[in-house]
Amino acid sequence: KKLSIGILFGGRSSEHEASLASAASVLKHLKQDKFDLVPIGITQTGQWMTQTTPYELQQQMAVTTQIIDADMQESTQHTIVVDTPAPSSPLMQHPLSSVAPKVDVIFPLLHGTYGEDGKLQGLLEMIGIPYVGCGVLGGAISMDKEKTKQILRAAGLPVVDYKSYRRAELERNPEKVLDDIEKNFDYPCFVKPSNGGSSIGVSKVRSREELRQAAYLAANYDHKILIEKAIECREVECAILGNEDLQASVVGEVIIRDECDFYDYHAKYVEPSTKIIPALISDDLALEIQEQSIKAFRALDLTSLARFDFFLEKDTHNIYINEVNTLPSFTEDCMYPKLCEASGLAYPDLLERLIELAVESYEDRQ
Ligand code: ATP
Ligand code: MG
Ligand code: MG
Ligand code: MG
Repeated sequence: KKLSIGILFGGRSSEHEASLASAASVLKHLKQDKFDLVPIGITQTGQWMTQTTPYELQQQMAVTTQIIDADMQESTQHTIVVDTPAPSSPLMQHPLSSVAPKVDVIFPLLHGTYGEDGKLQGLLEMIGIPYVGCGVLGGAISMDKEKTKQILRAAGLPVVDYKSYRRAELERNPEKVLDDIEKNFDYPCFVKPSNGGSSIGVSKVRSREELRQAAYLAANYDHKILIEKAIECREVECAILGNEDLQASVVGEVIIRDECDFYDYHAKYVEPSTKIIPALISDDLALEIQEQSIKAFRALDLTSLARFDFFLEKDTHNIYINEVNTLPSFTEDCMYPKLCEASGLAYPDLLERLIELAVESYEDRQ
C-alpha cells in the first residue's frame, strides 16, 4: 500500500510565500509510485483547505506581494494585507476532524511561526500522526534565536554576542532601550526578531535613527527582539540529516553580492545569491563546522533535519553558529536540498528519506 503524505503549506507566518515555493517543489518531486499526495493549504488567516495547490492558494488569497519589495526593510508599518477576507472554500475550520484519518505522515513545508516552532508539532502529537521534522521542544527552542544561543553557549558552542529586549520595554521607554543598546554595541549592529525567518524584519543599522526604525520593525514580528554584534564574515551552512545516526553534509557557502547589505529577503528569493558547494574552505574548517553542527543538533534536541547557518569571520577566521532552521526553505534549488545532493542524496531520495525518518522517530516516541 502506498503511504499517504499530507503536504502542509502556506500558513500564518511571515514566510507564507516561501512556504508555497517549498511545497510546490516537494509536490513535484515526491515519488508518485510510492506515495499518495494530499496537499493541504493553510491560509494566512489560519484556515485549513484541502483540494488546493500552492499556486491556487496564492491566487485565492490575493496576498499583496509587498513582502518581496526591498523597501519593506525601511517600513516600520509593514503588514501583509490579505485582500480576500475569507477563502472561498474553507473545508476545514478545524484541522483535527478531516485531516487526521486521511494521511499517514504529514510533511510540513511551513516555515517560521505556526509551522517550524513546535506548535504544529504539538497538534500532530495530539492527533498521533507521524510528521517530518523535529518535535515540539526542539522546534520551539530553535525558532527562538535567544533560547537557541543560550543553549548553544551552554553546550560550549560559539555564538555571536547579543542582547534581547522585550517589545513591551521598547514601547514603554524607547529611549532607555536605545541608550542601553548604544551602551552595549557599536555601529553597525544587527537587529532582528527573536522568532523569525527569511531575513524578514532583520536590519543592519548604522545610527540611532536606523536603530529606532529597525527595533520597531523587528518588534512587529515578535514580542522579543535581538541586537547582535555585526560580524564581517563569509556565510557558510551545513545540513544535518538523521535521528540517531546523523549525517553532516558538505559545507556550502552563500556568496552575497556587493550591492547587498547582507543576506536579506531579496538576496534569498528575488535574485537568489550564488551558492558554492562545497565551500572553498580548508578541510579542517569544514570538519569543525560539521562537528559543531552535529553537537548543536543534539544540544537542541532535534530529529530528522536541520540547517545550521554559520559566520566565518573574515579577519580572525573564527566561526560562530548564527542560527538553526529546523524546516529550512526547501525548493530543489535551496541550500538544504543542494547540500544533501552534493553529499550523495538526490532531491526525490531526500524526500523519501525524510518520510522514513518521520515514521522512525514517531515509533521511537511511542
Ligand atoms: P533564515 O532565512 O536563514 O531562516 P533568519 O531570518 O532566521 O534567516 P538570520 O539568519 O539570523 O535570519 O539573519 C539573516 C541574515 O542577516 C544572515 O544570513 C546575515 O547575512 C545577516 N546577519 C544576521 N545577523 C548577523 C550578524 N550578527 N552579523 C553579520 N550578519 C548578520
Ligand atoms: Mg532562520
Ligand atoms: Mg528560516
Ligand atoms: Mg539564516
